[in-house]
Amino acid sequence: MSTASRERFQSSLRRARKIAVLTGAGVSAESGIPTFRGAGGLWRRYDATSIASPEAWQRDPGLVWEFYNHRRERALGCAPNPGHRALARLEAVWRDAGRTFTLITQNVDGLHEQAGSRDPVRLHGSLWQVRCLACGSVTENRDVPITPAFAGSGSPDPDARARRFTAAELPHCRCGGVLRPHIVWFGEALEERDLAAAAAGVEGCDLLLVVGTSAVVYPAAGFVPLARRHGALIAEVNVEPSAVTSLCDFVFTGGAGEILPSLLDVAPEPAP
Ligand SMILES: [Zn+2]
Repeated sequence: MSTASRERFQSSLRRARKIAVLTGAGVSAESGIPTFRGAGGLWRRYDATSIASPEAWQRDPGLVWEFYNHRRERALGCAPNPGHRALARLEAVWRDAGRTFTLITQNVDGLHEQAGSRDPVRLHGSLWQVRCLACGSVTENRDVPITPAFAGSGSPDPDARARRFTAAELPHCRCGGVLRPHIVWFGEALEERDLAAAAAGVEGCDLLLVVGTSAVVYPAAGFVPLARRHGALIAEVNVEPSAVTSLCDFVFTGGAGEILPSLLDVAPEPAP
């Protein structure tokens, strides 16, 4: 990244009255959360539709919970990195100055919240929330293992299952209904409320920052053109060029934890 481009970016950032940030797996990869499609990605070991889909749930909810139990276990040992913290700090400074800041994330690990981000729009749900299939209530749940039956179950192997979990071993709501992960699975629609909140944050923003995501999957793929239509500047922080690189005014190549702390260390310019 050239010093000139960095200074131009920071000068635009200081003047921004409304900022939107879109983050993806790349931000959490630096914290040790496995990514999906990259090297060592989760979906290279598991066929996504065989484990994170309504069909998989119909076939074997125990296998699906084994997968999420394993992901919760992994996430529990991970901490926010300097990239998460730099975004939380930017949000606090911007909100204190009476300006608008919206963090939209495709991540489900909760690391943004742990770093201090207040109310990120979680497009794909949360590893730490469960939803009752009977009464529909969504609740926070940090139990690891999710139920005692899942203790030590490790990483599921769809091809060589050691055992099946019974209905009684699945997590249950107080109402008696079965709990599922509050995660948007393949083939499921995103929550209207989250989509609306994300669009409201992007529409009319002065600056859209895309971090750690290739932004090729809907709806993230639509945010860059949406921001663009309203005249926003677009900046990208990614370890490699992505589908949005050619649409960006600023491209910073590298990890979020390495680039964001100094890049975002600015104060808003007082309003005239
Ligand atoms: Zn219930």
